[in-house]
Amino acid sequence: MPTLDCRQLPAPVPVNFAYVIPMEDELEHTDLYPFCPDQTCYCHEDDEAIAAVYQAVEDGLLTPDEATDFVLGRLL
Ligand SMILES: [Zn+2]
Repeated sequence: MPTLDCRQLPAPVPVNFAYVIPMEDELEHTDLYPFCPDQTCYCHEDDEAIAAVYQAVEDGLLTPDEATDFVLGRLL
């Protein structure tokens, strides 16, 4: 499978259509990007990953808005 497919949907695919497909095992979660765009995915509840994002805000690496987008899988 394409490794970045989760984040690089090029077409205006209806958001809800893409997200209702149960394919958790194929979503991308890495140390760098622990959050995927699937709002129903467990990764958005990952306290450890979220804490790391908050730490990045504390360190001035991310703005709070960027952190929110990051946790929600809306990568810049
Ligand atoms: Zn996920």
